[in-house]
Amino acid sequence: MNKETINKEIINKMIQYFKVLTLSKEEGKYLSDKAYGYDTIFFIAKFVERNKIGNNFNKREHRQRAIEYIEDIFNLSPGTAGAVNYYSESLNLLEFANIIKKVNNNNYIILNNEILNFICQYPENAYIFIYLLTYSTMKNDGILELYKKLYNRSNTEETNKEIINQIYNIFNKKSVSIQTKGSNWSKQLLKYTNIILGFINNGIYFARTLNINYRKKITIYDISLNVEGTRTPNDLKKKNDYILKFSMDYVKYMLEGYTFETVTYDQNKMIPEETIASELAGLKLDIIDSKVEPNVTNDFDKKQFVEDKMKTRNQAVQREFKKRLYENNPKVCPICGFAFSKFLIASHIKPYALCDNTYDAINQYNGLLLCPNHDKLFESAKYMTIDSSTGVIKLNEEARNSKEYGMLEGKKVDMRLINCERTHYLRWHNQRFLENNAATDAN
Ligand SMILES: [Zn+2]
Repeated sequence: MNKETINKEIINKMIQYFKVLTLSKEEGKYLSDKAYGYDTIFFIAKFVERNKIGNNFNKREHRQRAIEYIEDIFNLSPGTAGAVNYYSESLNLLEFANIIKKVNNNNYIILNNEILNFICQYPENAYIFIYLLTYSTMKNDGILELYKKLYNRSNTEETNKEIINQIYNIFNKKSVSIQTKGSNWSKQLLKYTNIILGFINNGIYFARTLNINYRKKITIYDISLNVEGTRTPNDLKKKNDYILKFSMDYVKYMLEGYTFETVTYDQNKMIPEETIASELAGLKLDIIDSKVEPNVTNDFDKKQFVEDKMKTRNQAVQREFKKRLYENNPKVCPICGFAFSKFLIASHIKPYALCDNTYDAINQYNGLLLCPNHDKLFESAKYMTIDSSTGVIKLNEEARNSKEYGMLEGKKVDMRLINCERTHYLRWHNQRFLENNAATDAN
């Protein structure tokens, strides 16, 4: 996500596209419920993109897989209503935005592939989509001006109360789902649309609930996507893995000129972080996809299954790993100097199959560029290892005694390769080498 290469044209396209949206549209109510849930939108958009056939998406056909996917990503208890709602409401929101259109009970057609594709590229993009959707709708319905007043710090308590009442009145007129001021939809529309329009300016973007009272105007609490005490536990590794990499600077850059209030930020600090979230989501889909394979037994152990499937290579992860190795290292085998770069292999030190997470799988320091011959020699940590502290090549007995490899014993690789992080992985490799050969001796 390099900002120079990002085409901001998509922002204008979305603004144009959303010009017709109003809360009078039945699905408008989902803007309130899913406005905080850009993460949900990201995953569901990805799911739709992945499972559409041509321009068609069948909701029912993929229902079970979608639910399993959501339950896993959001750590929801199996069988609770949560996942079903995430799925349906997200589809409804995409329908409200004219991204998809329902043709009958189960089938949708994709109306705008470009925006759909944008949303599911990065969680940040899903956030931008939600922001613009809210921004446009509120603007079209004349609510934005009132929000601006509400955010104006100079107002007194009484005027704020009046403004909030005016906002309620507009909502009441616009949406058939909002009959009275006290109804749930009514409350939520006010709450959640405020979150999305408001928190970008405060730099707080992981808010679940927001409370407006006349005294403090806006109080945001529950600063996490899912909090303890609701449907989900707060330890959500799968999601947190990308949330921590969420780049607000990227969002601000993209929304420059459209944000609700002027955003001030330091241009020099804008280092958009690359996020592996989309890869993570893809990986998860791969795992679920492979569930349809016939070799799944009846006593289905989900945890074991996921662990097993992690061992199958994900092409996107492998590609990214290779790219990083190629870009950051001399294109030469450190064992023999072989430099025909097309044949060099991006070799994991700790094998992909044994990596606990995507970070290890994708980390260039968990790798070496090796010639095909020495890749083979190195890969199983049986015949050869490279000492993590000295860079000295060590062979097992069999390799040492061979005329092909014997001369490598004791040779030293370029020490510039053995940096701190690579040492960490080589240490693992050294240990495994010892274990492998101890096992051989015992046989
Ligand atoms: Zn070599």
